[in-house]
Amino acid sequence: MRIVKYPHPILRYKCKPLRKIDQTIRDIVQEMFDLMYETQGVGLAANQVDLPYQLIVINPTGDAQQKDKEVVLINPIILKLRGNEEGEEGCLSFPDMRLIVPRARECKFQAIDLKGQVVNYHWKGFDARIVQHETDHLSGVSFFQHAVASNGDLETQLLKLQVKFKEDLKNGLEPTEEQFLESVKKWEEERA
Ligand code: ZN
Repeated sequence: MRIVKYPHPILRYKCKPLRKIDQTIRDIVQEMFDLMYETQGVGLAANQVDLPYQLIVINPTGDAQQKDKEVVLINPIILKLRGNEEGEEGCLSFPDMRLIVPRARECKFQAIDLKGQVVNYHWKGFDARIVQHETDHLSGVSFFQHAVASNGDLETQLLKLQVKFKEDLKNGLEPTEEQFLESVKKWEEERA
């Protein structure tokens, strides 16, 4: 498992709901948490690890020791957003970029947990920001699309990532658009 970087096509992909929760998914969740802690993140969406699922892992503390703060969201649905505030965000798929993004201050949402149960949440502040950032990923939206300011010139930073991706594509390290669509189709036939 690896974290894909912009402009990998899966970051623009609208993930389909996950139909079945089994050991494969539980293993994926564990691997996603491990990778998230390793890369010092507080949230990770499945399409960031090249899986087109509506699946998110979050730990707002970013601390692997605080297991009780871990949240797994499957097929999340935002029910209500309230208030507005700007705040700084980073994203594991956009290394070194820090952007100022306006988000709702409060977020009510619903998701299925690993046991298959529907859970209701009402998060505020930083936690609400994380869940909005991650659910955006599942809709194929990345944080720079909402950003109002950045730590460097946004266009230059994006261009740098695009050049790197093109190089990797040429070297066969990243999938072409056709290969990508083929792999997505296969996953969806199995799980969506
Ligand atoms: Zn992100």
